[in-house]
Amino acid sequence: MSAEIIDGKAFAAEVRGKVAEHVAKLAEKGIKPGLAVVLVGEDPASQVYVRSKGKQTVEVGMESFEHKLPADTSEADLLALVDKLNKDPAVNGILVQLPLPGHLNEDLVINSIDPAKDVDGFHISNVGLLATGQKAMVPCTPLGCLMLLRDHFGSLSGKSAVVVGRSNIVGKPMAQLLLRDSCTVTIAHSRTKDIEDVVKQADIVVAAVGRPEMVTGDWLKKGAVVIDVGINRLPPAEEGAKGKLVGDVDFASASEVAGAITPVPGGVGPMTIACLLANTLTATCRANGLDEPEGLTA
Ligand code: NDP
Repeated sequence: MSAEIIDGKAFAAEVRGKVAEHVAKLAEKGIKPGLAVVLVGEDPASQVYVRSKGKQTVEVGMESFEHKLPADTSEADLLALVDKLNKDPAVNGILVQLPLPGHLNEDLVINSIDPAKDVDGFHISNVGLLATGQKAMVPCTPLGCLMLLRDHFGSLSGKSAVVVGRSNIVGKPMAQLLLRDSCTVTIAHSRTKDIEDVVKQADIVVAAVGRPEMVTGDWLKKGAVVIDVGINRLPPAEEGAKGKLVGDVDFASASEVAGAITPVPGGVGPMTIACLLANTLTATCRANGLDEPEGLTA
């Protein structure tokens, strides 16, 4: 293996440390950032995410407000809760955990969040602000990837980047962020022809596909920096066991060719919650007319 391993777990701990320092400084001014997380239903993966978000929020010194609603909550009740949180001065960030149960309109709910408190960066206003290069709340996972890349390269200017995947939560905002940092960006997706050749042009490859180990070493340019967003659980080897977690990149073959690569687990995953905390801090600073924390925003 020749590639440098990009340690997202360690970097995320650094980000949380910086957030905690800023939060302590805000406390001297009598300000305590608050993050409200809304969970509708009992999706087991969502419950795990919400628990660890709450725990890490408290660890950095912020206030955590958890709202757990039953799966059959009506859209009107959910919108009423969001409205209440929008108006609550103790709440600086609001996150509605996705996916929502099928009877709820996700776009409607997300777009009912005050854009200034939209720490997931999914509100249509924030999408537009990001796309036009203005001050936005930036989706957490792409922000985490950007931080890792900036830390690795210093400047991303002039690099060629291929983002594999065009979802609204990862692929598209990732491409916007790379463009904003003056990369030459290509977005590949399920209809891209000769995708291996497209990926092979890139200095930076971000894989956000949801297909286990799809990107292999022979797709990569020698020395490329590979950010693997994918989280896929393989079928267990034996009954009752837990399947192995893998990314969208075949780590074994890719790490022979790449210059640097994020592992799964321990790469992008831990950065997502760290960036949620960073976004909550940013939202708090903006709400109070204070300077934004350096190095924690896009
Ligand atoms: P989506 O399913 O929303 O999007 C997947 C994208 O991959 C689509 O644009 C799709 O293209 C594209 N795609 C699918 N198959 C292929 C293929 N064979 N070749 C090329 N492109 C393909 O997924 P998400 O963006 O939400 O998530 C992607 C991965 O990232 C998942 O593994 C998810 O678990 C993980 N994830 C990890 C996070 C973290 O914190 N680390 C956070 C969020 C997601 P098309 O549009 O043409 O269908």
